[in-house]
Amino acid sequence: MKSFVVVHRPDSQSEELAGYLRDKLSKYLQYDEEHPDYCFTIGGDGTFIYAIHQYHNQLDTMSFVGIHSGTLGFFTDYRNNDIDQLIKEVVEKEGKIVESQLLEISIDGCIVEYAINEMRVENSMRTQILDIYINNEKLETYRGTGICVCTQLGSTAYNRSVQGAVIQEGLPVIQIAEIAGIHHREFQSLGSPIVLKEDSVVKLVSDNFEGALLCTDSTCQKLDGKKEVVCRLSKKSVRMMRYRDVSYIERLKSLF
Ligand code: NAP
Ligand code: MN
Repeated sequence: MKSFVVVHRPDSQSEELAGYLRDKLSKYLQYDEEHPDYCFTIGGDGTFIYAIHQYHNQLDTMSFVGIHSGTLGFFTDYRNNDIDQLIKEVVEKEGKIVESQLLEISIDGCIVEYAINEMRVENSMRTQILDIYINNEKLETYRGTGICVCTQLGSTAYNRSVQGAVIQEGLPVIQIAEIAGIHHREFQSLGSPIVLKEDSVVKLVSDNFEGALLCTDSTCQKLDGKKEVVCRLSKKSVRMMRYRDVSYIERLKSLF
């Protein structure tokens, strides 16, 4: 018998739905928080990301299904009033697996994090100056608050707030976007977001990261004293179970 877990946002409605789903699904699948085959998330895209981080060590044996309160999300195919339909489809249908690679982030040569949406190097204390390399080739010296490097999945998250492009599902790319870049007569950087091929390696180098943070999805760590941050698409990927055909355009229209 396959096993499952339910991860929910800590609000009373999501908690109640989680209890309902757990009861109903327990007739067909075994509840197992340690080594589940399926993870159902109830909440938003944020809850989905949280669940992936929670099970980051067993992503290769797990599949995720998202249930969203309110609208459809990018990771979430079901609304909370669709839950009986979801149970029926999980029990009766062979779902389709959509895989998406995570970003792998290293600081000074050691892998420190994986991200589903993005990694950001941000400095709110002072102007951050850093050199951007793509595949060991220098693109530019950047000055400003920071840099956001996102995946296709993350293109509708923070990246979109810094005027990055939305990337259609299925395109395994990396996107770099500036966070409040400084552009004037003396200092110039590309300014526009840049979308790179899937095997690209992005390196951010500075001899002064004092006050800077490395943020990956919803966690942050200090970069004081560090020299370089490298990110690339990882071999690790997340598998999303799709039981119904929701087009990417439909998801976009549902959310924005
Ligand atoms: P959070 O509260 O979990 O998420 C912040 C908002 O971003 C929520 O409305 C969430 O949607 C939405 N979101 C997350 N991933 C998304 C995606 N791939 N596509 C579209 N919307 C998405 O905040 P958090 O835990 O601090 O950070 C989680 C993620 O939120 C980060 O990776 C970052 O991309 C994003 N975020 C964005 C901004 C911004 O745009 N200025 C600021 C902070 C964080 P739900 O309501 O469906 O959960
Ligand atoms: Mn949402």
